[in-house]
Amino acid sequence: MKTIVIIGGGLGGLTAAALLAQDGYAVTLLEQHNIVGGCATTFKRKGFTCEVGLHEMDGVYTNPKIKKIFNRLDVYKHVEMLKAPEFFRVTTKNGAFVMPDGVEEAQKALIEKFPKEEVGIIKYFHILKQVSDTFEKIGALKWYDYLIFPFIITSIIRYREQTVTDVFANLFEDEELKLILNANVQYYDDTPDTLSFLLHCVAQYSYYKGGGYFIKGGSGRLSDYLATVITKNGGSVITKANVTACTANSVTYQYKKESISIKADTIISNLSPSDTYALFDIPYQETKEIANSLLTTYIGFSKNIKEVYGKGAYSNFYYDDIESVEGFNSMKKMDIKERGFVFVDYSQIDAGLTQDPHKSFGAVCMSDSLDEWKGLSAEEYRAKKLALEASIVKKLDSHYPNISKLIEYIETGTAKTVQSYIKTPNATAYGFKPTPKQFLKMPQAKSKRVDNLYFVGQWVIAGGFSPSIASGYICYEALNLKKITLWYN
Ligand SMILES: Cc1cc2nc3c(=O)[nH]c(=O)nc-3n(C[C@H](O)[C@H](O)[C@H](O)COP(=O)(O)OP(=O)(O)OC[C@H]3O[C@@H](n4cnc5c(N)ncnc54)[C@H](O)[C@@H]3O)c2cc1C
Repeated sequence: MKTIVIIGGGLGGLTAAALLAQDGYAVTLLEQHNIVGGCATTFKRKGFTCEVGLHEMDGVYTNPKIKKIFNRLDVYKHVEMLKAPEFFRVTTKNGAFVMPDGVEEAQKALIEKFPKEEVGIIKYFHILKQVSDTFEKIGALKWYDYLIFPFIITSIIRYREQTVTDVFANLFEDEELKLILNANVQYYDDTPDTLSFLLHCVAQYSYYKGGGYFIKGGSGRLSDYLATVITKNGGSVITKANVTACTANSVTYQYKKESISIKADTIISNLSPSDTYALFDIPYQETKEIANSLLTTYIGFSKNIKEVYGKGAYSNFYYDDIESVEGFNSMKKMDIKERGFVFVDYSQIDAGLTQDPHKSFGAVCMSDSLDEWKGLSAEEYRAKKLALEASIVKKLDSHYPNISKLIEYIETGTAKTVQSYIKTPNATAYGFKPTPKQFLKMPQAKSKRVDNLYFVGQWVIAGGFSPSIASGYICYEALNLKKITLWYN
């Protein structure tokens, strides 16, 4: 039987392995950490389940690939999805705005706030839909569609070289409106000046259309469930198995101080191309820019925040010191303590992250880089993290009076922490930087350097839960259904 070895148990690796195991392949997944999931994990502290890499997942019930995967693997029955009450709430120098989900609802709320921009707002949502529909169509092309392919992709061709800033300059006058529409830009890139407008369309429209979801009990529940599908179908999932070398037909890993080599007819890598080719000892110079990393401050509250402050928003972007979209550029240059962040208040959705229902968990997250922490001694690193936590708490206090008094546990994971756990270049969780030039070069599922090597995860389509999971399906299709993969890495 064909043996398939998967290097790395992030969402991409787990999805591909589960689908292939279900179809009867002999699958072995090797994960260097002691749990599977990569970013899609949780850890426990003082009675709190701390979520590592999920605030809101898009496309849970609307993305055709995600629906196909979740139905096939029975995910909807085994993993409880909780809908966020709105897309986000953003606070700027000019005040707060709640962005509902639902395309019509969001459009209406924006027109109410910015009546002079009505024409641009309607056009904006029209373009989001047009571009997203085109990408969806490309994902399910029939042979006869290739005859009219150039017509199908006109909207992609039109915007392929444009950044969000380029397109917004022609759509809107109001700088606050532009800021609001980019509130969540820090996940993908630092500023709208470099972000591909096409990526913006696909990602934002998916959240507007289908809403954002959290996984009850934490994202580790999904990862653990996928691992169960693999083992129940006869596959193996080996944790604490650090892959150290590969050849075209074998994978070597370190397990409990032992070096073990196993046969592999096919290898699927959940790692970046550069890290993967290093395992094969193949010279490879990455030419693409890598996306930024993220910093998270995990906070356990002695009370349920929703009970104390009343119903609020789930994803709260605080950009207190900026008032226009230009502010993202100045924020990038600010001291990390001054930058804006998102506060995810998990108490708003009964997230199942605390043992005691009268307590709650929250996470503050912002863009980060390894450079930010470079050259610091252990003591300096700790002191810088503590100073950052103090400034975060002070800002939270200004929005939730005396919330500092409710903090029972606080801890910060920086870009360095992300790197130590998932080992990605630049400590990124979002693969390649989605600039106009780079975004269209994805997905890249099949290696052109090693015949039986495939890629999954944040490096294939884009970073994020749904693209990483979808990459597992692209790989599965390429391997199992022998579907021609047009894209190479
Ligand atoms: C703070 C934070 C917040 C986020 N919020 C969201 C969100 O709200 N919505 C959203 O959609 N996405 C979010 N993301 C992004 C999302 O979590 C990631 O894009 C996604 O989980 C990446 O999946 P992946 O398949 O690329 O695997 P990865 O998570 O990159 O995992 C790769 C795996 O490979 C393993 N590995 C590495 N080297 C080896 C080796 N040599 N041998 C064996 N195993 C190895 C690692 O240990 C890891 O488990 C967030 C990420 C972070 C960090």
